[in-house]
Amino acid sequence: MPSLSKRTEGFTDSVIRRMTRISNQYGAVNLSQGFPDFEPPRPILDRLAEVAGEDFHQYSITWGAQNFREALAAKQSRLMGRSIDPNSEIVVTCGSTEAMMAAMMTVTNPGDKVIVFSPFYENYGADTILSGAEPIYVPLYPPEFGFNADELEAAFRQKPKALILCNPSNPCGKVFTYDELKIIAELAEKYDTFVITDEVYEHIIYKPFRHTYFASLPGMWERTISCSSLSKTYSITGWRLGYIIAPPQIIDTAKKVHDFLTVGAAAPLQEAAVTGLRFGDDYYRDLQAKYTEKRNLFLKGLDDIGIAHTVPQGAYYILLDISEFGYESDLEFCEVLARDVGVGAVPGSSFFREDVNNLIRLHFAKKNDTLYEALNRLEHIRKKLRKR
Ligand code: GLN
Repeated sequence: MPSLSKRTEGFTDSVIRRMTRISNQYGAVNLSQGFPDFEPPRPILDRLAEVAGEDFHQYSITWGAQNFREALAAKQSRLMGRSIDPNSEIVVTCGSTEAMMAAMMTVTNPGDKVIVFSPFYENYGADTILSGAEPIYVPLYPPEFGFNADELEAAFRQKPKALILCNPSNPCGKVFTYDELKIIAELAEKYDTFVITDEVYEHIIYKPFRHTYFASLPGMWERTISCSSLSKTYSITGWRLGYIIAPPQIIDTAKKVHDFLTVGAAAPLQEAAVTGLRFGDDYYRDLQAKYTEKRNLFLKGLDDIGIAHTVPQGAYYILLDISEFGYESDLEFCEVLARDVGVGAVPGSSFFREDVNNLIRLHFAKKNDTLYEALNRLEHIRKKLRKR
């Protein structure tokens, strides 16, 4: 037999998604893969039911249904502070996973370098491998997860083609300040580099933090490929609706990459999601309030148990410090945690370039009852989980 692709031979499966399978196997409360267990907004679901009886069962236009792109353009124009053209500046994709992959394929050649902050969402590693690019990792330092501007400039001096910016950040919950984004913008300009954003948590931000769209910084529209999705904003991670927003000359290529990768996102789901895209500002205020409540509830529970953790400024993840348990492998720790304590988590090493084995990631995008159940189980962690 001939050998399989060299490009993918080093791939492991996604540890995030593996932890969901392990959680299910042990009946654990699954706080590993980040997705809600509460219902999406009722009006979106009602519209979905109607759509079944309407004429949305064939391909939409490859770069997204007109109706969807117009609703998305109206929403994002309002938020990003510029008028976005639904025809030439948007590609609708199968989740932001495809958006990021298509963005990478659009801007990089094999061998190009791409800056990735560490910790990072695990897909970026695979994205660079699939597009043949080479990551340059720049550390974010706890507890604020800021970067060192000199280290960042040293990375830019290696002439990367692009920088990947996850803001708000998965897994560390960092929301980049305007000043930090300004530093990135100046370097992107100076070294003539693209910035690919992953802004899927744009609406999940805790006061007093605010989300700044990187593309809205002076001079950055031209070199930013903004990726995001509806998954987290409308609690519809299974619908796989994402998008790229960028200037027409970039979108022109991204449309072709997307077309050959997937042809298009599901037409009936695009139509149903238009209802969500047309929600008023009160929807996003309520979403923030809901997640703020969950965050506070969960953080308080963890504080009562007495485990050190990060405090997210945005997104819905917490990194827990498991040093006291003395495990050498955080993966093994997570397996034991799922089996013996009954809570699913993701090993921190899946997110860090650095050698980190004392952190695990939990998420709190769950019903309050689910969070209480997880906290009840975690209360017994020291009894049930023997120290090594
Ligand atoms: N972004 C979510 C997480 O980090 C879901 C990842 C996924 O499986 N697409 O858990």
